[in-house]
Amino acid sequence: MAPREWAEKDYYSDLGVSSSASQDEIKKAYRVLARDNHPDTHPGDKDKEDRFKKVSEAYSVVGDPDKRAEYDELRAAIRNGGFRMPGAGGGAQAGPAGGFDFNISDLFGDGATASGAGGLGDFLGNFMGRAGGGAAAGSGRSQRSRRGADVETEITLDFREAAQGVTIPLQLTNPSPCITCNGSGAKPGTSPVTCASCQGSGFVNEQRGAFGMSRPCLDCGGQGTRIDNPCTDCNGTGVTTRRRTITVRVPAGVVDGQKVRLAGQGEAGLRGRPAGDLFVTVHVRPDEIFTRSGDDLEVTVPVSFGELALGGTLTVPTLDGKVRVRVPAGTSDGRTLRVRGRGIPKRSGTPGDLLVTVSVTVPSSLDDAAASALRSYVAAERASGFDPREGWAGNK
Ligand SMILES: [Zn+2]
Ligand SMILES: [Zn+2]
Repeated sequence: MAPREWAEKDYYSDLGVSSSASQDEIKKAYRVLARDNHPDTHPGDKDKEDRFKKVSEAYSVVGDPDKRAEYDELRAAIRNGGFRMPGAGGGAQAGPAGGFDFNISDLFGDGATASGAGGLGDFLGNFMGRAGGGAAAGSGRSQRSRRGADVETEITLDFREAAQGVTIPLQLTNPSPCITCNGSGAKPGTSPVTCASCQGSGFVNEQRGAFGMSRPCLDCGGQGTRIDNPCTDCNGTGVTTRRRTITVRVPAGVVDGQKVRLAGQGEAGLRGRPAGDLFVTVHVRPDEIFTRSGDDLEVTVPVSFGELALGGTLTVPTLDGKVRVRVPAGTSDGRTLRVRGRGIPKRSGTPGDLLVTVSVTVPSSLDDAAASALRSYVAAERASGFDPREGWAGNK
């Protein structure tokens, strides 16, 4: 599959997953869809067959981490460069109109860049004019066809919330689609009219040397439409800044500093163009008793010498209730016992383990009975031939 075709397809939505889905999630989604639409089980069903082909094609790209990385990169480049691909994007503009004929694969070849230097990024930068800052502020040339800006914010979770996953409301004050005009920028009751110069595509084709290029249409500022009666609430931008609350689902097992991406929850795009993404940096408060190491949950349990020497059963807290952990007789201080599957839960696959480290606590004072029993014990220990320092520092 050539990169040119990639640019026009949304493999993630074909598989019904988000673009931040893990390889595991992609694989799962593919398996379910492939099974449900398999031609063997639905002979003669053309719709299912087409769906099956689509799903297989999507999986052949995003199911392969290397190809997926290339695909993501290409899509990001196109999005940041402001290109509207036929069929991609949505928003207020009607119809892909095929106004954009640009051979993406040319860009990856040597010497194909117009400036003769740099890669795709430079090329797009020179070509489109670089957009600085947010897309929602003003309507300068370079910003006209960009999607909304990405937004970053932060949240702080308790250790247990982060380990188990949590859904929390998040308040944002951001450029959002104007309620009055529904993001179109046109006064209610009116609609944007298609630009005659570019037939709504926002681009005009130009032949330059070996390959065709398009430049943004100057008559409509690349919007593809003109607004004769702008909405007064948003001055025709389709965007107003307001406070809104969104629900953020933080998956189980996030670590301190991790970013969670919420596609389409960033700033609204001008006149109904796609919104940017919201990136939420998650901070995690330390827990009183738990720490973690990857997917394993670690806890240190105070024990007495007797409990280790004689063995016994400890009751140990987990994220989810308690477990009983058997300590074998003769366990050394500091040893770590593993309880399978009681660590950090995972979205897919097996959860981590609980690692229980025993740590001897020595009483700071003993009552007479305990002191006397302990003296007898030490004498008996010696009589049995046990020497804790045998073989240590040259001892015999
Ligand atoms: Zn408006
Ligand atoms: Zn135009």
